[in-house]
Amino acid sequence: MQTFQYSQAKSIDVAVGANGKFIAGGTTLVDLMKLNVEKPSALVDINGLPLDRVESTPDGGLKIGALVRNSDLAWNPDVKQRYPVLSEALLSGASPQLRNMATTGGNLLQRTRCYYFRDTNYKCNKREPGSGCSAIDGFHRIHAILGASDHCIATHPSDMAVAMMALEATVHFRGSKGERSIALNDFYLVPGTTPDKENVLEPGELITHVTIPALPPGSKSHYLKLRDRASYEFALASAAVIIQLSGGKIQHARVAMGGVGTKPWRSKEAEQALQGHEANEHTFRAAAEAALKPAKPLRDNAFKVELAKRAVVRALQVTTQTA
Ligand code: SF4
Repeated sequence: MQTFQYSQAKSIDVAVGANGKFIAGGTTLVDLMKLNVEKPSALVDINGLPLDRVESTPDGGLKIGALVRNSDLAWNPDVKQRYPVLSEALLSGASPQLRNMATTGGNLLQRTRCYYFRDTNYKCNKREPGSGCSAIDGFHRIHAILGASDHCIATHPSDMAVAMMALEATVHFRGSKGERSIALNDFYLVPGTTPDKENVLEPGELITHVTIPALPPGSKSHYLKLRDRASYEFALASAAVIIQLSGGKIQHARVAMGGVGTKPWRSKEAEQALQGHEANEHTFRAAAEAALKPAKPLRDNAFKVELAKRAVVRALQVTTQTA
């Protein structure tokens, strides 16, 4: 690990003007600093900022501070009752100790688990632009089948962000030029030719909070995660679904997938295949087929296509059984 300066920000304005890398829970950043993947010259500790509250919004939604810990968000009574998909996604991630430290903002910004990204002995366009991608010709079982490019095929590792994608969350952040907000779906960037640029944040911009709108009345939701072992493991494929049923027909549907995309992957194709249709196996399978139609698997990760389809179908089954 390289030496760095450390300071504690006493206000948001001080933080965004500090010209350093923000640290909150540190559950990704410190790991990557030890590996010499991240080499910040200055760390700005934002744990003292007043961004740790979950509040109801006037329109019936939720405002989640960037420093709300993953455990606190998962067990928040409002989240458990009104947005179970979010609670389930959070509780499926990492370990209790990590969830106690990890924050909402940090979770959105966590870096990929691509082995080659985390090992500086290998070429990686995300870590060192223009150096090449060791995963494409290497072992890529855990890599993306949606949104990849010739420059990077790394998956986004967050469970929470997949649920937030289905919930149509908005990210709010502040920089030296003021405040900005953007839909989570537009916050993340696919790798294209610049895999080192993962989101729309400009240098110095700090995520302050996330807002989630109210769900249509009677909506049910569920997060299903499929992985190599039952805990403390990243998704090979996951599905976050939100369904509102009326008279056996699906009135409102939201579908997002994790473990398969270069960003948390919302499937509007699947949603279109569900909305207005009977809630049955035929419809669910059609939605899953639509969701994975754009998939471009490679040698080692082709199994993810069918695995992700089954995750979508099973998540829809569970959700509609309880609807
Ligand atoms: Fe780097 Fe992306 Fe290739 Fe992994 S998949 S080695 S993160 S460029």
